[in-house]
Amino acid sequence: MKFGETFKEYLHGEKEHSSLFDLNKCSHVDYKRLKKLLKICRHHCREFNNGDFQVEEEEEDRQINTSICRYQSCQWCDRMFFSEIMKEASDIVGCFSSRVRHLVQLHCTTGMQRFLLHLFQCFKNDQQALVMEGRMLIEYVIMNAVALRKILKKYDKVHNSASGMNFKSKLQAEHLEISQSPWLIELMAFCMNFSESNHLICYELCIPFSCDLNVLDPEPVLRLVLPNYANLEYSLTCAVCLHTVFHPYALSCGHLFCKSCACSAGSVLIFEGVNSASPKMKCPVCREDGVFSNAVRMAELDLLLKRR
Ligand SMILES: [Zn+2]
Ligand SMILES: [Zn+2]
Ligand SMILES: [Zn+2]
Repeated sequence: MKFGETFKEYLHGEKEHSSLFDLNKCSHVDYKRLKKLLKICRHHCREFNNGDFQVEEEEEDRQINTSICRYQSCQWCDRMFFSEIMKEASDIVGCFSSRVRHLVQLHCTTGMQRFLLHLFQCFKNDQQALVMEGRMLIEYVIMNAVALRKILKKYDKVHNSASGMNFKSKLQAEHLEISQSPWLIELMAFCMNFSESNHLICYELCIPFSCDLNVLDPEPVLRLVLPNYANLEYSLTCAVCLHTVFHPYALSCGHLFCKSCACSAGSVLIFEGVNSASPKMKCPVCREDGVFSNAVRMAELDLLLKRR
């Protein structure tokens, strides 16, 4: 099946479940519209190049290779295309982060809250709802990441350019690249914690990935193996102390450190907290500044590592 179809089916399925989980409030990559935009551009370019505007649909595919526009930047679609993608990516990352944050909060409730949940005997159902939400968020983020990658590739194919590829680094610089999000690591850790505490394996939860983690390795790695997508690997070694991260924190750039190492890198005391570091302080790995104030405490990852 073509990806466009798969994505359409996914969006359709999302709509049907909306009463349960309501992901409709979350943005998706408007794959269809972006594709149409590229198609219009293709026509414009052809008209511009050889005046041959009226090309029939079936001929089109054969002509793509000969009539692609060869500009470094495209006057027809650049502004709309990239600004649209930027907005969608930012909405997706925003929605994803807040949903996972909420999920982790629910999962990590302890003491009185947990007791109350037991009291009202809704705990089991709650657990099921949590794992369903986790599954749905993983699918959400994977489908949209693939859609984004495909549409940027298509852009480059139509324009014979590298602008689509280059745009990825722009997304990365804006912290809008989903594979870079600490919340994806938290979500993976959540799924692993959840399945272990319920004696399930990820497969039984029908989660479309497998992760493996061996902290006995000299360099432990959290690995996400996705079908039809590049595998994602996250090193769990702290770049400051060179041990497995302890009380892990992720800076906005996505790099992971122990809490104490992040504090010393940010020149703050542990009780002041990672987030209180000055915006001038830089990440020890990528040297980016302003990455401390929104640092994320990795509660699920912490739990996962403590269990090993
Ligand atoms: Zn164009
Ligand atoms: Zn460390
Ligand atoms: Zn960094």
